[in-house]
Amino acid sequence: MEIIREPERMQALALRLRREGKRVGLVPTMGALHAGHLSLLEHVRRDCDVIVVSIFVNPIQFGPGEDLERYPRDLEGDAEKLREVGCHVVFAPDVGSVYRPGARTRVIVEELEDVLCGASRPGHFRGVATIVTKLFHLVQPHVAVFGQKDAQQAILLQRMTRDLDFPVELRIAPIVRDPDGLALSSRNAYLDAQQRSEALLLQESLRSAYRLVDAGERDAEILRRHVREHLSSGKQLRIDYVDLVDAQTLRPLRRLDGRALLLLAAWVGKTRLIDNLALEVRHNEVREVALEHIPGEETR
Ligand code: AMP
Repeated sequence: MEIIREPERMQALALRLRREGKRVGLVPTMGALHAGHLSLLEHVRRDCDVIVVSIFVNPIQFGPGEDLERYPRDLEGDAEKLREVGCHVVFAPDVGSVYRPGARTRVIVEELEDVLCGASRPGHFRGVATIVTKLFHLVQPHVAVFGQKDAQQAILLQRMTRDLDFPVELRIAPIVRDPDGLALSSRNAYLDAQQRSEALLLQESLRSAYRLVDAGERDAEILRRHVREHLSSGKQLRIDYVDLVDAQTLRPLRRLDGRALLLLAAWVGKTRLIDNLALEVRHNEVREVALEHIPGEETR
């Protein structure tokens, strides 16, 4: 496994691999790797010759007062885990080599970037879209994998990839959870025992709403309210948003009919956590679906 720190070296390798006809799979991360991150590699292993995992805590996707400074960083530990699971290249550049003095360009995905997480984290998604664009140019991947854990991010990047004609296939991998249901997140490390048990309410509230849909409820507002009420039992929990939206446009739904995405964000203590559930109602039957299998408006 090779560790590359310089963007120029990464791009030179990527161009060489392309010339040699190798298929490259990219897994972008901010490090502090857990089993959720590692699962992403399995989604490119089958049809890629070279797996590149990028590790970069991207400063421009953090807002003022967010956790940029204290975000967990452990390049050595991460490299060890990646070596064990058979990663080929780790791309871990410094901030100064990624954003050179004078850089002014940002990538904006209109409408999708301002809603849900974007409403409480202004500038977050243009930071994400900008770094992923740069990674696509530096790593030249054929395939890139993102987790459904960050559903809005995956949907927005899907849109960006199509709108900007990147020759990259985006894959969305399912959420990996602890046995008690908590979605794995690098930020779970901030939680104390009491907060961790309150954090379980996120997943429980989604499951509870699912049962309500299963029992016949189709009114989106009732479902949103149900999730909010469920979450309100957490003493240290403060809701950011709960919404039930169309999985391509992220626009709020009035009634559940076909495919939909139920998603939420909440602070538990000072830690902001997110979770979501993609579902499909057809012929009065409901089932959980993978976001991966919710097709775009047009398939191009
Ligand atoms: P991050 O390091 O938090 O930026 O995450 C890097 C990638 O891992 C993103 O595509 C995330 O959606 C994905 N990811 C994070 N947590 C999980 C999880 N629990 N299950 C699956 N994918 C995840």
